[in-house]
Amino acid sequence: MTDNWTVLVGVKQVPDEDDVSIDPDTGTLNRAEAAAILNPPDKNALEAALRLKDEVGARVIAVTMGPPTATPVLELAVALGCDDGALISDYAFAGSDTWPTSLTLARAGEYFDADVFICGEETTDSSTGQVPPGIAAHLDWAQLTYVEELEPRPEDDQLAAVRDVEGGWERVVADLPVVVAVGYGENQPRPSGLHRKIYAENEFEPIELDAEELGIDADEVGLDASPTQVGGMDTASPVEREQELLDSVDDLAATLHKQEVV
Ligand SMILES: Cc1cc2nc3c(=O)[nH]c(=O)nc-3n(C[C@H](O)[C@H](O)[C@H](O)COP(=O)(O)OP(=O)(O)OC[C@H]3O[C@@H](n4cnc5c(N)ncnc54)[C@H](O)[C@@H]3O)c2cc1C
Repeated sequence: MTDNWTVLVGVKQVPDEDDVSIDPDTGTLNRAEAAAILNPPDKNALEAALRLKDEVGARVIAVTMGPPTATPVLELAVALGCDDGALISDYAFAGSDTWPTSLTLARAGEYFDADVFICGEETTDSSTGQVPPGIAAHLDWAQLTYVEELEPRPEDDQLAAVRDVEGGWERVVADLPVVVAVGYGENQPRPSGLHRKIYAENEFEPIELDAEELGIDADEVGLDASPTQVGGMDTASPVEREQELLDSVDDLAATLHKQEVV
């Protein structure tokens, strides 16, 4: 039996989607003008991790791979109740797609000897959802995805989960160590406490890790190590949809029935 679980939580800084505009000439996102925020689905990952802390006394460490300007997301995680935060930053990471990003986070999992690595379902900027399964693949760990709820079983070194499946849910159990991707909106994230907030803003210093400290060679990360090829970008025109104003629910039922028959 593992005495105290170490739980990592992947948190990413993303541009606030309400602030992002599209450059009409290039068709690319004006990210620089948008405020930087914690990726909203990562709040659910943090809440799931903090519940494990409440239940089994785990040490929870938030980790972010990004530039030093991403430190505020770690401060927020610490204000919410994480024990620590790690900033994983190196020029060698520039241009990394999801494969080297997952590799880097996987090495952080090894570095901290994590028992559980919790992520959000996806980010609101790249939205691939590939990073959590990528971490599991690099580490050869079990993975629990689309998780609604976690149930720790420390006496057996296992983590049970209720996960969302098409048309319902299923309960599964994984041996530690395990990667978890929590479904977006599946729990109610707690607010930060005043004392933690003051500590996070005034005293907290992140653990700083670079590629060398994680045992990563420069040729394993960055643009050259990224298999993704971006073929081009375009903005989609809005789709014109047919509309019909109906007077009553009965009319709506009749119309739907008619369309089904047709
Ligand atoms: C060719 C190419 C080049 C790129 N170059 C750059 C670049 O130069 N700079 C850049 O910022 N992005 C770059 N990207 C985007 C980068 O690949 C993604 O931001 C990154 O791999 C995460 O993918 P995602 O956002 O789809 O994460 P998802 O898989 O959707 O994220 C799921 C969860 O994984 C965790 N997670 C994801 N990313 C991180 C992270 N960085 N730290 C901690 N936890 C995380 C979070 O918990 C998140 O909720 C590039 C992408 C491509 C395809």
